[in-house]
Amino acid sequence: MEFRDLKQQYQLHKNQIDNAILRVVSDTNFISGRQVNELEENLAKYVGIKHCITCGNGTDALQLALMAWNIGPGDAVFVPDFTFFSSGEAVSLVGATPVFVDIDENTYNISAVSLENAINHVKNNSDLIPRVVITVDLFGQPADYERINLIADKYHLLVLEDGAQGFGGSIDNRKACSFGDIAITSFFPAKPLGCYGDGGAIFTDNDEYADILRSLRVHGKGSDKYDNVRIGMNSRLDTLQAAVLIEKLKFLDEEIRQCNIVAAEYTNRLKEVAKTPAVLHNMISSWAQYTICLKSTEQRAHVMQCLKEAAIPSAVYYRKPMQCQEAFNNRKYEGLMCPTTESVCGLCLSLPMHAYLSKEAQKDICDVVVSAIEDN
Ligand SMILES: *Cc1c(COP(=O)(O)O)cnc(C)c1O
Repeated sequence: MEFRDLKQQYQLHKNQIDNAILRVVSDTNFISGRQVNELEENLAKYVGIKHCITCGNGTDALQLALMAWNIGPGDAVFVPDFTFFSSGEAVSLVGATPVFVDIDENTYNISAVSLENAINHVKNNSDLIPRVVITVDLFGQPADYERINLIADKYHLLVLEDGAQGFGGSIDNRKACSFGDIAITSFFPAKPLGCYGDGGAIFTDNDEYADILRSLRVHGKGSDKYDNVRIGMNSRLDTLQAAVLIEKLKFLDEEIRQCNIVAAEYTNRLKEVAKTPAVLHNMISSWAQYTICLKSTEQRAHVMQCLKEAAIPSAVYYRKPMQCQEAFNNRKYEGLMCPTTESVCGLCLSLPMHAYLSKEAQKDICDVVVSAIEDN
């Protein structure tokens, strides 16, 4: 059994994907081929945003967004304590200070209450200037933008939506990656929309940001690559990856529809024995992960062991709060506790989740989880 079944997906769409790849190879337009523009237009239309700027990966996308806003030393950037490392790493890469914020106990996304506390803490106890909040659409569910945007407005923060896991999700028919002043996503193979290597994209409605981002991703180019007006990066999406993504975007919504059926089945079978994921009423998750919480860390270890013995893959996203990562130790912002994150890190467990998970497999997985909990 696969945690995320990319093999079945490929077999099902093999002809169209093979043809798209072969076309790039025979055209030999490996960098900035026409497929890159075509993909950017398709992605912007899909998300409902004016500009899409593709780039090398999701981590670069976060860094490029912060660079476009001139975020650097002396700036505080608020980041959820429960997320993938990149969300905080990009902040340190530009020299700013990540300030880690606790999460909501039901959605595992950044807590609006904790965010406001953290902003006031920084204002009262440091010389840092609050500039940006990075909201993460964790496990596929958009963050609570209605409440986060109120706080961002009140304290004049820019919102950077990290939609690396959220692409394809929505709030009231508005797609993820349309909620931040700038939003980013990742095309790492296991993400909701994955390519066949590394890739990323940035979204914005703001023409000025878009111009700067297009310059930054190609060595800070001016009129061309050999006229350099700022220090940038070399972070482009390969034409091959763009060609694969053009094909995969066509069936993304159908895959997400299937994932939602799988998630409903999981929740139905597991809700009596474990804490199942809460999706807010007006939101659709793209189900990058289906994550339950067990009663104790010992119970989680037992469930994982039973799954392993049954040859069922499972994973812990994430075992460590961001502020406990060694890399952030000397930047740890003293005095801000994140008790919900600490608790969830000890209890969370992600189960196989993809559009091709059979009814039988779903039942087998749930049977193992239920019996492991019952005999623990
Ligand atoms: C995967 C991920 C990223 C980074 O994307 P890459 O393409 O791997 O660089 C950033 N943020 C979150 C929340 C992610 O899950």
